[in-house]
Amino acid sequence: MHTYDISLTISPDMPVWPGDPAVMLERFEKMENGGNANVSRIAMSVHTGTHVDAPYHFIASGKTVEHLSIITLTGRAYVLHLPDVDRITAAVLEKADIPPRTRRILFRTRNSEVWARQENDFKSNFVAITADGAQYLADRGFKLVGVDYLSVAPFKEGKPTHEILLNAGVVVLEGLNLSQVSQGRYTLYCLPLKLANCDGAPARAILVGV
Ligand SMILES: [Zn+2]
Repeated sequence: MHTYDISLTISPDMPVWPGDPAVMLERFEKMENGGNANVSRIAMSVHTGTHVDAPYHFIASGKTVEHLSIITLTGRAYVLHLPDVDRITAAVLEKADIPPRTRRILFRTRNSEVWARQENDFKSNFVAITADGAQYLADRGFKLVGVDYLSVAPFKEGKPTHEILLNAGVVVLEGLNLSQVSQGRYTLYCLPLKLANCDGAPARAILVGV
């Protein structure tokens, strides 16, 4: 049994969504300056690195992140490799061999290689799920969808994919690093920070081989 940490490391030099605040992570109490202890503070968008989107991210009356179900965030998951696609469409999903009764699906695409190479510039040509792909997943009862770049939706096409998934109650997990993970079944543990009244939250996510 192997455990994979599929979370990105949060640091000031990591890429963030264009227009979002960069990560600020600094010590404000320093032992070398006579402080009693080292104490750091952090400021960043809640959509930084590995994180979940709450429905409230795109739906004004939607649930906020502290109300997402832990039952949905943990449990059996399937990692699907799609190394050669530029967009995850309904046609791509139809052709893929997703085991029946899969409720949580994580897509490993060429995006994960960007994390493996530790490239820190924002890539606008990342692989993401189209509106018809999102509709396919919502219609088939998926409860959690994970992607390996900073948005589940293609660049500059954010609204439709997010709205379809979040309206259907699908938990959206973004910013995964799946570069070390083979296609197959795992148990997912995804634990977002319990932030009050918030549209998303950073999460630690791991996969355990089954
Ligand atoms: Zn997000």
